[in-house]
Amino acid sequence: MSNIYGGRGIEIAEGGGAEIKDSAGKSYIDFLCGNGSELFGHCHPTLVEAAREALNFPWTCSPGLLNQRRDKFLGVLSGLMPDGKAFLCNSGTEAIEASIKLAISISLERGKSNKIIALRRAFHGRTMGALAMTFNPIYKKPWSEFLIPTQHVKMEEAVEAIDSDTAFIIVEAIQGEGGVYPMSQDIARGITEKCKTTGTLIVADEIQTGWGRCGALLASRDIGLDPDIVALAKGVAGGLPVGAAVWKGAIGDFTSRGHGSTYGGNPVCASVGIASWQLLHTEKLPERAINNGNLFVSMLKEINSPLIAEIRHKGLLIGIELTVKSEPVIRTLQEKGVLALAAGPQILRFLPPFVAEEKHFKEVTQILKNTLGEFGS
Ligand code: PLP
Repeated sequence: MSNIYGGRGIEIAEGGGAEIKDSAGKSYIDFLCGNGSELFGHCHPTLVEAAREALNFPWTCSPGLLNQRRDKFLGVLSGLMPDGKAFLCNSGTEAIEASIKLAISISLERGKSNKIIALRRAFHGRTMGALAMTFNPIYKKPWSEFLIPTQHVKMEEAVEAIDSDTAFIIVEAIQGEGGVYPMSQDIARGITEKCKTTGTLIVADEIQTGWGRCGALLASRDIGLDPDIVALAKGVAGGLPVGAAVWKGAIGDFTSRGHGSTYGGNPVCASVGIASWQLLHTEKLPERAINNGNLFVSMLKEINSPLIAEIRHKGLLIGIELTVKSEPVIRTLQEKGVLALAAGPQILRFLPPFVAEEKHFKEVTQILKNTLGEFGS
């Protein structure tokens, strides 16, 4: 088996809500949740039902044909932007590729040079276009020489770096993989204004922050960014492979052969996407994300450990900056029945699903407290 798989040493056998079991029968509270993609928890009955129903119809629909399920889901996504248009693919990195291709073609029409700005600490995916926008050299070696030239600037220097040559800037409202660093409203508004005056496109990567996790469908709008193109994935179909690029209709479109995807918007994933959209609204899940995120963070703050340097969060995207390495802490948490992930060498990240309950937050807090106690002594 490739080195890519199995590094955590457990095999997942079953799951429901915020809990899973491995094949040895051990239970875990899952705040890793498929790297954030199982935003609605495992096997949410509404999503399972939507998938089951759709499986009785043709599974893949060529882009050249129309399909009610795909059209409806495209309609839902397009509604996120003024006079919006949307493209469906199968992952976050593909959503970024589509966004990059669209941004480049539009900026060429606008007579821009090939200047692209991304931020230090950014993570946008692992395919060659997305990798160019990603900052961390760990992901980029040995491919660096082969990537689209991209200028990576500090978040605080972004506004100044944008000029009339700049084709587009790509940003995350909260840098997830890069350490859970939120962008300030001042910087977000500054980027929006500067891009308006220079005719530069804003691409917002909402793959981790969007679809309600941070309390809004688009976290970027909450802080004053006015993106032209948005990339979505992860929770959009509750963990089925879906990515989307969504953009303002006024900026333009792909030509009919300009982009495509065989499986993108397949009726099964589209049906689950529509059901997930409905759940967000009927169950007021973005609001729940804010309330539960605040509740969890208030518990975490009570831990009062010298190993916690800072807690940064918005909704259910939570980063704990430690004074020690995060990986051994994550391994110990796993041994004690909690799944979490890193967001940098010293940052512990929790991505709880919407359905996580107070009892889960309490138990994770207690287990983290015990774990840090062991590391501190
Ligand atoms: N962008 C962000 C902000 C992400 O967090 C991720 C994945 O973690 C990606 C892009 C890439 O998504 P995927 O792994 O689905 O390709």
